[in-house]
Amino acid sequence: MPNFSLDDHVFTAACAQFATPFHLYDERGIRATARRLKAAFGWNPGFREYFAVKALPTPAILRLFRQVGCGLDCASYTELKLAQACGFSGDAIMFSANDVPPSEFALARKLGALVNLDDLTHVEELRENGGVPETVCLRFNPGGHFRVGNAIMGDPGEAKYGMTRAQLSEALSQLKEYGMQRFGLHAFLSSNTTDPDYYPALARLLFQTGRELAAESGLTLEFVNLSGGIGVPYLPDAPEADIEGIGEGVRRAYEEELTAYGFGNVSLKTELGRYMTAPHGWLTTHIVHEKRIYKHYLGLDASACDLLRPAMYGAYHHITIVGREQLPHDEKVDVVGSLCENNDKFAVDRMLPKTEIGDILVIHDTGAHGLSMGYNYNGKLRCKEVLYTENGEFTLIRRAETPRDYFATLDVDPAWQKLNED
Ligand SMILES: *Cc1c(COP(=O)(O)O)cnc(C)c1O
Repeated sequence: MPNFSLDDHVFTAACAQFATPFHLYDERGIRATARRLKAAFGWNPGFREYFAVKALPTPAILRLFRQVGCGLDCASYTELKLAQACGFSGDAIMFSANDVPPSEFALARKLGALVNLDDLTHVEELRENGGVPETVCLRFNPGGHFRVGNAIMGDPGEAKYGMTRAQLSEALSQLKEYGMQRFGLHAFLSSNTTDPDYYPALARLLFQTGRELAAESGLTLEFVNLSGGIGVPYLPDAPEADIEGIGEGVRRAYEEELTAYGFGNVSLKTELGRYMTAPHGWLTTHIVHEKRIYKHYLGLDASACDLLRPAMYGAYHHITIVGREQLPHDEKVDVVGSLCENNDKFAVDRMLPKTEIGDILVIHDTGAHGLSMGYNYNGKLRCKEVLYTENGEFTLIRRAETPRDYFATLDVDPAWQKLNED
């Protein structure tokens, strides 16, 4: 197990202060991971991480990233507004959106954000919505399979993102016409991978392509954006990403593909989400029901509305029971929420210790793509978020939703407005 775990007494103390369910986030762990990433790429003077907002779009967390020098990666108008409200501006914002409403470029430009174009048609849309800045980033999709050695790491040919190699050349020549001087290059070709070869192989591809594009366009390659994709060990025995080894692998690629060709001034960017926060969050719940029919079910006070990944992808999230982990894990159970959907299961056929109603059940690695993917099916209201601060206190950083929030969009009808006032 990675050493990010919190002791049982922390969950007990948090539950004494706040009613479950809630996602608990560990400030110390998030800061430690940010420091580790920065150190692993410390050899590149311009290196910067742009935390992917969608992974954990909560101001208290975003401000924490600002304190440690990270930027934000935004993909929508609302995420840009959130970044702005949290004090980010200029090149501390990367706008990496796809299928983007053209008008959203205008806000990105107003904030001075770096704009990452996903498609050739975005060149004109950017020009018409805020104008073409001196630096623009382009998103590359090499098509086919993305292979490292014999292993297929991703399927860009099936992905909706980015431009073909020929479109990159065309985009640069158009942007040059419009006064752009420097460019960045971006690609995201594999998701949730702890493979130490992913970033170095992606970097090599982007370095080579960036070199070619600089030569043919006469423009300056300013940065390479390795995007997100580094994974975390959701399974207890899975390996952690060796971030120092990954940083070193990228450094070797940089020397061989850039420095050796006289491109020693290119800065590196990342847009990691999962790697930064997933292991530092826990959906903290109580067991509220136990049911034995053809299978043995443990019913929680949380549902897929608070954490969708298991229902949506069958994703594994480790589960522990506070105070019972030393006992034999000899009960085979399904751990379920209350939705009228049979996929509302946090675990299927999981071996857990014997439990009782009222036990605290902790679902691990919920710090990224957790609450932010949540929804309101069945009129279920999303839970609160609590930060476990560096000095050992618990701070409420997002309250739970209320029926009033659920009804808020019905204010098109005055009768509903009135109901909200009652
Ligand atoms: C989702 C996303 C990320 C973050 O991905 P992780 O898997 O959380 O690291 C980064 N950049 C873009 C453009 C994304 O869509």
